[in-house]
Amino acid sequence: MNLKADLLVIGGGMAGLVAGTVASESGLTTLLLRKGQSATANSSGAIDVIGYVPDVLEPFSSPEEGLLAIVALYPLHPYAIVGYGDDVTSEETSAAIIGRVREAIMWLKEHLGGTIASVTGEFDTNMHLITIIGTTKPTCLAQMTMCPGDLEDREDSVLLFAGITGCSEFNPSAAAKTYIEDRMALDGPPHKVGHCMFQVTPFGKSFNISSIEIARHLDREGSIEALAEQLKVQVKRIGATHVALPPVLGIRNAIANKSKLEKLIGATVFELLGFPPSVPGLRLQQALEGVFIKAGGKMLVGHEAISHVRTKQRVAAVIARGPLREIRVDAKAIILATGKYIGGGIAGDEKGLRETVFDIMTVTDDYHSSRDIVPSRSTNRLSINPTGQPIQACGVGIDSQFRPVREDGLEWAENLFAAGAVLAGYNYSVEKSGLGVALTSGYSAAKNAIDFLREVKQVE
Ligand SMILES: Cc1cc2nc3c(=O)[nH]c(=O)nc-3n(C[C@H](O)[C@H](O)[C@H](O)COP(=O)(O)OP(=O)(O)OC[C@H]3O[C@@H](n4cnc5c(N)ncnc54)[C@H](O)[C@@H]3O)c2cc1C
Repeated sequence: MNLKADLLVIGGGMAGLVAGTVASESGLTTLLLRKGQSATANSSGAIDVIGYVPDVLEPFSSPEEGLLAIVALYPLHPYAIVGYGDDVTSEETSAAIIGRVREAIMWLKEHLGGTIASVTGEFDTNMHLITIIGTTKPTCLAQMTMCPGDLEDREDSVLLFAGITGCSEFNPSAAAKTYIEDRMALDGPPHKVGHCMFQVTPFGKSFNISSIEIARHLDREGSIEALAEQLKVQVKRIGATHVALPPVLGIRNAIANKSKLEKLIGATVFELLGFPPSVPGLRLQQALEGVFIKAGGKMLVGHEAISHVRTKQRVAAVIARGPLREIRVDAKAIILATGKYIGGGIAGDEKGLRETVFDIMTVTDDYHSSRDIVPSRSTNRLSINPTGQPIQACGVGIDSQFRPVREDGLEWAENLFAAGAVLAGYNYSVEKSGLGVALTSGYSAAKNAIDFLREVKQVE
């Protein structure tokens, strides 16, 4: 089967869905291929812009502060590339970077408004959200359900960590211990923290329950009332003003569930940031897909881009394998947003690292070819350390237009752009920049692709 589009997006995580939405809203016919699940759906669902410089333990108080530092230290970081232009001073470059990231954040906030992953937060400050292990993490935007309200501002606040019997993903007593130790060191409220367990039996199951099963259960009528009956007793027991739950408040109805629960128990309820499988990550994925479809984009799920047809300087078509057949998509421009190891955009084996769709050269964070780098040589022995894993910074190098480059630094094809975790030059797990880079680069790559198509008069 042959299909045609102005723009083909390969990849359906944050970067691809944002790029596809921006293009569709500008009037381009846009087709998106997604082979499977994304890192976006496995993320905590909070949108980090920039939290840390690698190797430094003090978090940035705002994305602006972090962006200025990171682009000064790493001139080839994807955030730095956003500001590249001809004949501009360094002040103008910094202003362009901050302006573009702010614009992308505001765009996302507006587009997620009214969806199941509606977000709160401002570009001018980093929030410090609590994780399921009781630590905190700097982030820019949080889903409404994750917001702890005035917990750390009220002198009389009391926090209850509530876990679920049979769900091993969250240990409330360990989280409470870690959290209160941090608060004592900072000498800030809450000064009292407690923990409890409650019971939820999704579909009659009382053990080995996953957070996704609980979230689906809490979307059903009557289940929030049953949960409130148990929590009310515990809230009263310690005088809790706030209740921290693992991220399980629902997939379709999480925001309404939070308000209902708060009314019934008389305390602020919020979800902690969790690990995969992630209910808020799933909500974010579904909301972004809804936004893309609403903008007029078309999406083929379960379709994997496997090869391409090239004519001189351009990619003319991409061949994708679907569940039933192979398709050929002829497109005027293409955005590669296939993610890294989880999404499947970069793969590694005993021979080295490779980009999986076009076989574009991959590079390390210092822009040496990583084609022959065996993954085990590019990983630290300690899985968690302040400098992270070097292999996370490997990916595709790009030019100022977000076009992948060849070994000689020139663009690989004039109509191929790239965005998100497939890019080289940043390490999201230590910087806390993952969804922020995916958003900003997806937004920027789409704008550049639109400009390119208008310049070459391929579209009006
Ligand atoms: C466990 C975990 C927790 C995280 N937590 C956070 C967090 O709290 N905050 C934050 O900001 N960031 C977080 N991140 C990082 C963040 O999730 C990623 O940086 C971001 O989602 C990358 O988005 P992406 O669109 O580039 O790639 P992905 O979301 O991975 O999407 C890639 C897409 O490409 C598709 N694809 C791949 N190859 C093909 C092909 N050949 N054909 C068709 N489709 C293809 C995949 O199926 C997928 O849909 C976390 C990451 C992980 C793994």
